[in-house]
Amino acid sequence: MQSLYEFYKIGNGPSSSHTMGPKRAVERFINTYKDIDKLKVILYGSLALTGKGHLTDYIIKETSYPIETEIEFDLDKECTVHPNTMKIIGYKNENIVDDWTVYSVGGGTIKIDGEEDTDVPDIYELNKFEDIKIYCEENNLKLHEYVYNVEGYEITTYLKEVWNAMKEAVETGLNKTGMIPGRLRLSRTASDIYNTVVDNEDESLKQTRLLSSYAIAVSEENASGGKIVTAPTCGASGVLPAVLYYYNHDKNVPENVIIEALAVAGLIGNLVKTNASISGAECGCQAEIGTACSMAAAASAYIIGLDIERIENAAEVAMEHHLGLTCDPIYGYVQIPCIERNAVAAIRAIDSSKLSMLMRKHKSISFDVVVDTMYETGKDLHSHYRETAEGGLAKKYCRNKYYNKDMA
Ligand code: SF4
Repeated sequence: MQSLYEFYKIGNGPSSSHTMGPKRAVERFINTYKDIDKLKVILYGSLALTGKGHLTDYIIKETSYPIETEIEFDLDKECTVHPNTMKIIGYKNENIVDDWTVYSVGGGTIKIDGEEDTDVPDIYELNKFEDIKIYCEENNLKLHEYVYNVEGYEITTYLKEVWNAMKEAVETGLNKTGMIPGRLRLSRTASDIYNTVVDNEDESLKQTRLLSSYAIAVSEENASGGKIVTAPTCGASGVLPAVLYYYNHDKNVPENVIIEALAVAGLIGNLVKTNASISGAECGCQAEIGTACSMAAAASAYIIGLDIERIENAAEVAMEHHLGLTCDPIYGYVQIPCIERNAVAAIRAIDSSKLSMLMRKHKSISFDVVVDTMYETGKDLHSHYRETAEGGLAKKYCRNKYYNKDMA
């Protein structure tokens, strides 16, 4: 399992697999072949089908500038290795210098075909929650202490940077109004929700209002190309910040506890990334929002003082009840259903941690089992429901009365 430096990435939205990954691949290609004078990038699978909405072509051209760059969307080729596949061809004086086939596997991480693995080494020896739990119990460690032991205490400096970027995304998003870029012509709603205080608002409604506005603020920033943190991806980047911001800002949980919770959440997300997938194109939205909800539930469970077993239960509950969740972004934009979905998952995350506190401690389904199940379920999902915008809401929306063929 790789470091949390690789897991939490601070960057611009709207999509880790469709913008951060391709950007990284092109950067690496250009740095390897410094004298090329032309690039051709062919996008396949989900990158071809939803690349326009996710700004893949825009980010590639911006990254390769001033090198002349041609982008081709190949909608026909079947992707047998990973649905987010791209080919980068470099030229010098019209002669091919090299070509790479690259897979953007989620969270901004790439794999280059023919290379052993990614350019990032594995630093965690234990790759299953069960093994980590046993190790922590035997060594009297909490989960965040285990993370600090493996990564070195310096990781806390990076986690503070991550936390600051998350806070900034919430606050920037809450302070903005106006339109979100794209054909859907959506208006930002975070500040409206934040300010909608109904008469006799009780604690429960207040929590929903705050969590939703924070999650939506970050997701609207993401959809507008603003700065966010992959947690685990750009599309699901609003869930964890919303929960952490709520505890810190509204419940006075101190920053050192927030940083520890961020380490716990990162461990959970990293386990999903290692053992299954955090890519909507590979396994549907359960892999993105399901994972984000699991991470936030574990963070919440840690903050309310639950032990490792109950933290596991919270993460498991959060994932179990997202199983089968499809990815069907309308026109390929990370907007509908994505933005609202972040709010629902933030609310669910806190509920999952509370449920874990009330339930029997020894659950029948472990976190490792639910992660495995999510992966298998994702592989079984029809491609229409894996970030291709060919099914679900993407299809129905296009057929409703507001559909205008010119927009398609
Ligand atoms: S539906 Fe979910 S997985 Fe798909 S783009 Fe939106 S947030 Fe990502």
